[in-house]
Amino acid sequence: MPDAAHVIGIKLSYNRHTAVLTDFAGNILADTALPTTQAVHSMPQLMEEIGALIDRILAESGKALADIRAVGIGMPGIVEFDTGTIAWSALLSERDQNLRAAFATRFDMPVYIDNDANMLTLAELWFGEGRQKSDFAVVTIENGVGMGLVLNNRLYRGARGMGLELGHTKVQLDGALCRCGQRGCLEAYLADYALAREAATALGPGTDTPQSSQMLLETLFQNAKAGNRAARTIFERAGRYLSVGLSNVVQLFDPELIILSGSGCNTTTFMPPKC
Ligand SMILES: [Zn+2]
Repeated sequence: MPDAAHVIGIKLSYNRHTAVLTDFAGNILADTALPTTQAVHSMPQLMEEIGALIDRILAESGKALADIRAVGIGMPGIVEFDTGTIAWSALLSERDQNLRAAFATRFDMPVYIDNDANMLTLAELWFGEGRQKSDFAVVTIENGVGMGLVLNNRLYRGARGMGLELGHTKVQLDGALCRCGQRGCLEAYLADYALAREAATALGPGTDTPQSSQMLLETLFQNAKAGNRAARTIFERAGRYLSVGLSNVVQLFDPELIILSGSGCNTTTFMPPKC
């Protein structure tokens, strides 16, 4: 019975938040998006945007809040799945914020909060390229670098539910400053914000808003395609760091398949070579 329950799935991100409303069979009945009002949020500001997104998708689907059985929220950052605590996220101005508790002050229904790459990995496991695979990895390249891992047909989260932070593995001692506060993280060389930071150096400065960062990246891409040496070097270096990251994933986990996904790339899959 598809009508037995309805759920809302939300993805929070740097540029815009998106939501889908599905029935119990997983059929998408409505989808919507809202631009973010700022790059970095306090928890109340983030809850305002989540509330506005839920209002909008209910209005567009013709459903009422009482029709919704549960909400799932995926967001970038280090998310403690068991408690709903966000240990760190580039979307939040403070560390160790409990999104589940904040959600409960406004909505009286279950909420499942996870790292966005983990949710994408579950989608690949249940519906996508990973259905026939017992061991595979998903690497996402967006405004950060994320990863999800399936071992023995199950999503692996680590002891506290916040492992597999590929973007914050170190690829350079005392290297580039990462948004997490540490130095030399993979995403400090590879993520959208890192490329935008480099682009500002190569092409001139932009301001720090999601929109200007996206425009700067687009300009950088066009310049690289047109043969601009500095722009090409930025992408080539990012590609080398991505190779290092993927090579480490292969060496550690020997996955059957790696799925590259996220708004920073067209989704692609490849079978790691034996070495
Ligand atoms: Zn980092």
